[in-house]
Amino acid sequence: MFKKSIKAYEEAKVVIPGGVDSPVRAFGGVIGTPPFITKGKGSYLYDVDGNKYLDFVQSWGPLIFGHCNKDIEKEVIKTVKLGLSFGAPTELETELANEIVEMFPHVDKVRFVSSGTEAVMSAIRLARGVTGKNDIIKFEGCYHGHSDSLLVSAGSGMATFGAPSSPGVPSDLTKHTLLCEYNNIEQLEKCFTESNDIACLIIEPIAGNMGLVPAKIEFLQACRVLCDKYGALLIFDEVMSGFRASMHGSFGINNIRADIITFGKVIGAGMPVGAFAANNFIMGHLSPLGKVYQAGTLSGNPVAMAAGLVSLKKIKKTKDLYVKLNEKAKALVSGLQKVALKNNIPLQVDTRGSMFGFFFCEVAPTNFKEVGLCDFARFATFHHEMLKKGFYFACSQYEAGFICSTITNKEIKATIKAADEVFKAMNNGK
Ligand SMILES: *Cc1c(COP(=O)(O)O)cnc(C)c1O
Repeated sequence: MFKKSIKAYEEAKVVIPGGVDSPVRAFGGVIGTPPFITKGKGSYLYDVDGNKYLDFVQSWGPLIFGHCNKDIEKEVIKTVKLGLSFGAPTELETELANEIVEMFPHVDKVRFVSSGTEAVMSAIRLARGVTGKNDIIKFEGCYHGHSDSLLVSAGSGMATFGAPSSPGVPSDLTKHTLLCEYNNIEQLEKCFTESNDIACLIIEPIAGNMGLVPAKIEFLQACRVLCDKYGALLIFDEVMSGFRASMHGSFGINNIRADIITFGKVIGAGMPVGAFAANNFIMGHLSPLGKVYQAGTLSGNPVAMAAGLVSLKKIKKTKDLYVKLNEKAKALVSGLQKVALKNNIPLQVDTRGSMFGFFFCEVAPTNFKEVGLCDFARFATFHHEMLKKGFYFACSQYEAGFICSTITNKEIKATIKAADEVFKAMNNGK
């Protein structure tokens, strides 16, 4: 059933490293080759072999209204016909900025870029520019894009200066990155006392890049208090959780205010967009107002802005959107948990708005190390068997899942029924 995808993958591998333009797509952590996609429609993906899948990835988050939403499609096509890019300001950028600013009382200005990586990289430069300090704190298991100073892994110590996690990153560039354990207040406090040069703390307030592991509210409060105490800026990386976990991202759930927020994914509705936002004082340091340099030829691209704009307007207009998405997300994971348990397979589940996560382990993980203790072989089998039945889940236990608005209760029931069959077979096979 994957014959053409296997062939396409072989051909891709000849001219593209690993056959993919982003490593996770290569299905490295699971069984089999990645299906090559031809089109999407609503909640479904279609591949080159003609297989149809219920899509719980939704391009890793951006497509909150599913594939080919008519309203978004219409605006994008209209905008395309007026020219793809001008390298000059358009009113669309102001409109989209207004939509974002309206959602966050502590944010006055937004700068658009073309990816989440760029948004975070620029936000960190800005934080360093504003504070005049060099060190940054990040947490194990949080992903903030692939820029040099953020590709760090733990060295030998506990709270430690990060070591490069990728060849090609000089340790000179990661020596300013302090790495701490997620949800560990004590270690964070210690970290703040180890350096008097901390420009900012960056965190996914609802981590979705080690599976779904939301920060505890007390932990986020501690982040806020410690940043204030030591004169560091608090950056919430909401590239994934922004307009996904709630209309106001984590702020809508915990009411904790970051100094800088980064966005991506949903605000581009499937087009390449990232953004960072802060108050007038902080954004006043950004070029051309201030001296912190940041630029982009395709930044604020009109087609991307148009897609994001319709999408955010729709989000605001759709009554109870996140309540309904969360009901569906909950129905899905609680159903999965029930059938897993029935088959003697422990499964931990959680949701935030339209984000969901599940782990094959006995206790819900609260940090990266604990996620690493989950049963990855079991996940791989589950993933492969579900794919064969037409259900497209993220191909790694380190990824979150996403519900889009077009998915129906009937489709969720079908997913749970399929999972029951898969779990039964897994249980018998053991
Ligand atoms: C996806 C993601 C990024 C990186 O965004 P890209 O558009 O892939 O560069 C950064 N931070 C978080 C939290 C993300 O989920």
